[in-house]
Amino acid sequence: MKHLVTFVRFSFLALFLFLIVKGKMMIWLGIFAVSLIAAILFGRIYCGYICPMNTLMIPAEWISKKLKIQSVNAPNLFKYGKLPWITLFLSIGLMIIFKKVFHKDLPFLLIWLVIALIVTLRYKPEVFHNQICPFGALQRSFGKFARFSKSVNEEECIGCKLCEKTCPSEAIKVITDNKKAIINTSLCHQCSNCQQVCPKDAIHYIRTNKKEKVSI
Ligand code: SF4
Ligand code: SF4
Repeated sequence: MKHLVTFVRFSFLALFLFLIVKGKMMIWLGIFAVSLIAAILFGRIYCGYICPMNTLMIPAEWISKKLKIQSVNAPNLFKYGKLPWITLFLSIGLMIIFKKVFHKDLPFLLIWLVIALIVTLRYKPEVFHNQICPFGALQRSFGKFARFSKSVNEEECIGCKLCEKTCPSEAIKVITDNKKAIINTSLCHQCSNCQQVCPKDAIHYIRTNKKEKVSI
């Protein structure tokens, strides 16, 4: 499963780079638009499997940990909740101005790729995913309506917090009161990291309103 996920991620990364080189950025934006609709049904699968930034942030985080340069304390600026919306509107505004003035497309996808890597070399991945990423702002808005999502079976959960430690987007938290983990679908990338480490097999991909197990 892990190898398949890696293969899917790098296939989309290759497609992304191919489209950028060919100057077909609009095709990628089309894929992103479709993924927003898909998020209403299946959750933020774009973030977990398709996003080139996420794919490269995984090795960036590994390097950051190896070099011991990762800081757990992010600047207060990154804790301001509206930043992803500001970065989104700023990106769109700059893209329009660049097109009007220079008659060229601003390579803002590549620019964000570089920003994501720099931020992840210094801070935990959730800082970029939740507090900066302009695409994440939109994915979060659609993902909160997900009909299918990773979900924790409370009866099986023992509150060990292993899932919390492996989640790249702080989407899963063990509640202090009952010591049971719970997943926030608007933050969840459906990446399966938590599922892979859960010692009780308490996490499943289910229909969120009916709590039926779905095998994936
Ligand atoms: S890893 Fe599994 S058992 Fe441990 S807190 Fe998370 S969901 Fe519960
Ligand atoms: S680790 Fe689990 S809760 Fe966190 S994003 Fe991945 S699937 Fe969602």
